[in-house]
Amino acid sequence: MERCPTCKAKYNGKSVCYRCGTELGLLLKIEKDAAMHLDKAKQAFLEKDFEKMFFHARRAWSLRQLPEGRKMLACAAMLTWRFETAIKLHHDQGS
Ligand SMILES: [Zn+2]
Repeated sequence: MERCPTCKAKYNGKSVCYRCGTELGLLLKIEKDAAMHLDKAKQAFLEKDFEKMFFHARRAWSLRQLPEGRKMLACAAMLTWRFETAIKLHHDQGS
């Protein structure tokens, strides 16, 4: 997180925004969890455990919609024969 999602103040590492008082701890946890699930998806890919990769990629995507997460989930969907999911992710790009 680079800025407070409420007031856009620069993020200074605290769990509460110094300017507007927005509680940022939960958001930080979501960001951290999403990054963790992306890492686990990558690891599962390297282990060729594509169902596990899909599970973690989907968790990461549900927590945070990042371009990297979209690619990861689309790849995992292809590798587990979930072509409709992969196509949907492709078509939703940029929205
Ligand atoms: Zn703020």
